[in-house]
Amino acid sequence: MCIFCKIIDGEIPNKTVLENDNFLAFEDINPSAPIHVLIIPKVHIQSFNEMTPNIMADMTSFIQEVALTVGAKSDGYRLITNIGENGGQGVSHIHFHLLAGEKLGKLI
Ligand code: 5GP
Ligand code: ZN
Repeated sequence: MCIFCKIIDGEIPNKTVLENDNFLAFEDINPSAPIHVLIIPKVHIQSFNEMTPNIMADMTSFIQEVALTVGAKSDGYRLITNIGENGGQGVSHIHFHLLAGEKLGKLI
């Protein structure tokens, strides 16, 4: 079982930010910003390549709710999903990084 599936199952503890039947948002263990939350579907999907439009639609609403919950919706935030080897994906369970809490350096 992948590490994020173990977090979903409660086998590995996490600091939960928001949860519903289908998605979980929790604090990244090695934060890259004052606010760094990982947002995942509870079903194991390897990466954005395997996402379906239906799950993505529901996840969109959930991510917006997370941004509101952490107080980042009005000030702004960044969403990142790394995909595969060249994209730098370390955990093979799709996740969006939500970074916030300061003015983030420009990547592109
Ligand atoms: P990736 O490099 O795959 O885009 O991001 C994986 C992220 O998962 C990293 O930012 C890393 O810090 C985080 N991470 C890895 N293992 C754990 C864990 O056991 N708990 C938490 N909360 N985050 C983790
Ligand atoms: Zn998984």
